[in-house]
Order: sequence, then C-alpha cells, then structure tokens
Amino acid sequence: MRKYEDFHKSVMVNEVLENLITKEDGVYVDCTTGEGGHIKAIYEKTNGKAKIIGVDLDYEVLEIAEKRLKEITDDIEFFKSSYRDIDIVLHGLGIEKVDGFLMDLGVSTFQLKGENRGFTFMQDEPLDMRMDTDSDFTAWNVVNEYSEEQLSKIIFEYGEEFKFARRIARSIVNSRPINTTFELVDAIKKALPPKERYRRRRHFATKTFQAIRIEVNGEFDNIRTALEKFPEFLNEGGRICVISFHSLEDKIVKNFFRNHEKLKLLTKKPILPTEEEINENPRARSARIRVAERI
Ligand code: SAM
Repeated sequence: MRKYEDFHKSVMVNEVLENLITKEDGVYVDCTTGEGGHIKAIYEKTNGKAKIIGVDLDYEVLEIAEKRLKEITDDIEFFKSSYRDIDIVLHGLGIEKVDGFLMDLGVSTFQLKGENRGFTFMQDEPLDMRMDTDSDFTAWNVVNEYSEEQLSKIIFEYGEEFKFARRIARSIVNSRPINTTFELVDAIKKALPPKERYRRRRHFATKTFQAIRIEVNGEFDNIRTALEKFPEFLNEGGRICVISFHSLEDKIVKNFFRNHEKLKLLTKKPILPTEEEINENPRARSARIRVAERI
C-alpha cells in the first residue's frame, strides 16, 4: 500500500510544541493525526506523561500512525472520526476536559501518494479525493454532477483561481463524463492559454484539484464546527493550535479566535515557518500557526 519510504514530514514541530503544551501531564488531542508525526513529538516532549488522543477520519493513515507509535508506546488512543464530532469522541472516552487541541489542516503525504485515492494529478486514478472512505460522495460527483455555476464558484473561492474559474468550469462541463484524474487535468488544460500554464510556478491543475478536494470533504464547514466545540472542553489555560495552509482556512481560524468570549488570541500575527524549514520541506511554505488560550 505504501509506495514511498519516508513518513509525512510534519510541519513546524517546534512551534507546535512550544505553543500547544502547557503541562507535561496534560491531555492533548491531535485532531488530524495523519502519520502521527506531531503525536510522536508531543509524546517525546512530555516524556510520556501526557495523555494523547489521536483522531483522523482516514483509516489508512491511522493504521500507519498506530504502527509507527507502537514502537515507542501503547498508551495513545486512536479514533477514526471527523474532528467535527470531537464531542462524541471525548464523551465516549469519559473525558471532560483537555489541555490542548491540535489541527494540522490539509492533506497528508500518504493521501497524496497513496494508491487510488485520487488526490493527485501526477498519477492517473479514479476521481475520488475522499479522506473518509466511508462517505459515498466523491470528486466524481462534484466534477460530473455540479452545475457550471457551482463549479465556477468553488474553483474561484476554494481554489483561489480568480481569473480562470469560469473557463475551467465550462471546460469541465464540456468534457463530461470525466472519470479519472488525468481526464480532469486535460479538461483544465484545455481551459488555460498555454502562456498561463507555462507561467505558473506550480502545476496548472493544483488550484482546481485543491478546490474539489475542499468541496468533497466539506473542509471549511468541518473546521468551523470543530472550533465551535473546542472551548467547552478546554481547561483554563488550555490551548487550541491550528496549522493552516489556505488563506480561507486561516481567516476562519483567526476570526473565530478573535471573536470568542472564552478565548484569548495569542498570535496577533501568525507564526510562520523558518526559511530553513521551507528549504528542507517546501510544503511548509504556506503553513501558518494560530494559537488561542482558554480564559
Ligand atoms: N500532523 C500529521 C503528521 O504530523 O503526520 C499530518 C496531518 S495531515 C496534514 C492532515 C490530516 O487531517 C490527514 O490525515 C486527514 O485525513 C486529516 N483530516 C482531514 N479532515 C479531517 C477531519 N474532518 N477530521 C479528522 N481528520 C481529518
């Protein structure tokens, strides 16, 4: 199942540890466990004294994380759930209060490189992009069933494809049925003038793929719902630490932290990765951390 050797490179690990951990023996919830990189760091930093709960809605990454962590401890509890249902997970565990919630938004390397998940335009795969394979709504539904108007709106808003959203949406509609990632790439390619494609620093399909992924997984709505639920579970002084990669995600988080009466925003300006980290891990380039504390 795994075609690459290294684990997903966790971003801004030191910054997360500095801002999330307030007590060595606290309770910490990683809402986006992925391959468990941040959990491993939290476990080590707290000398194995913290209680750590790992949530993710992707079975495959959870299995990788559990196997990886098993080498150092059996004490971490993993749950297949959306973070939007964090209240159900915590009630189920009988946990009333925690000291920190971590969210590292976006896609894990496994999802990008995993076989047949349909997240990447680098391989020809069925159009899927579900993080939760229990869901029956896939990228196929968005690409083949949405109206031109709906497609144009999500490509514009979620993909931030400001100039060409309409043309891409029209080309997608005219190319239906579209069954694979390469067929989708072709439809996007037809919509963009060659000069525009050559000019871009990233692959010309990146923004449209991102938009469709966000729509398939209801990402922004999930973030809002989860944020609403976190404060009631936090001990005084407990933290919420969110790493986002998309300006709209960051805006949702920033506004939520600013306007919540029980939270103090600790990061007036977001924490950004160092140049050194960006050089080592280009994926970190657009990462930013916002932190709030329960008052
Ligand atoms: N921090 C992880 C690490 O160090 O390996 C990487 C996390 S990765 C960038 C983001 C993860 O969030 C993915 O594994 C994805 O499945 C998960 N995810 C996305 N939406 C989710 C949701 N609504 N609930 C729970 N997990 C979600």
